[in-house]
Amino acid sequence: MKKTLIVGNWKMHLNTHQASLLAHRLHQHVAAHHDVEVVIAPSNLSLQPLSVELDRRKFRLAAQDAYPKDEGAFTGEVSFAMLRDLVHYAIVGHSARRIYFNESLELIRDKVESAVRNDISPILCIGETKQDRDNGETKQVIHDQLTTALSNITSDDITKVVIAYEPVWAISTFDGEKAKPDDMQRAIDYIRFQIKELYGERAALAVRVLYGGSVTDHDAGAYLRLKGCNGVLVGAASLNFHQFAGIVESAHRLQHERGVA
Ligand code: PEP
Repeated sequence: MKKTLIVGNWKMHLNTHQASLLAHRLHQHVAAHHDVEVVIAPSNLSLQPLSVELDRRKFRLAAQDAYPKDEGAFTGEVSFAMLRDLVHYAIVGHSARRIYFNESLELIRDKVESAVRNDISPILCIGETKQDRDNGETKQVIHDQLTTALSNITSDDITKVVIAYEPVWAISTFDGEKAKPDDMQRAIDYIRFQIKELYGERAALAVRVLYGGSVTDHDAGAYLRLKGCNGVLVGAASLNFHQFAGIVESAHRLQHERGVA
């Protein structure tokens, strides 16, 4: 059985001191389970200290983004090549990057390729905006984002890529609109169908697909129960160690139920 993947995206929160404090709390409250992989994505600034402070048997690290060229005159950027010894994963194509930094489909394609070339598993975020959804274009958007991002990835490498379905309208809404599990199921099935078209049946079953969008400890189970959902990408709730630990426990409980069923 695949491990459930729980990824905490700390976004642009916490200075290094605050990040170390939260990491310490997570150590105390998040249990290690053989069937759950827990990944933390702090700011780049905290990756180095957390790589020393975190127990690597319990937590893995992810970058929130990186630049596709390995080195050069790209002031302000950090490359996947620079991060390769620090992180297992890197978030790529997050909707915040697509929307606020105008990242194009082609730039995201280059980032996915660079991550894989540097032995980092990209967590490729895809998902439609509210307007796309209202226009009935959800499938088209998923198709375009997915096929372009994966266009330089071979069938040998596709299982290194994790796909996070994150409908933009469901991110950080909490009290507002929540994604319905049925809608998520349709999207997950469609993502696997696209992987099958591109890489065949085995890859479609093997690739890990996550859900992301205002997940909390109260509703994580509803998403994790979906057929073909291998985990969740968690933003705001990952900054609260009680909630994040609760999400990890939900994942473990579900794996246990499946194991004994
Ligand atoms: C995210 O950052 O990818 C995310 C899903 O955030 P939130 O859980 O806050 O919606």
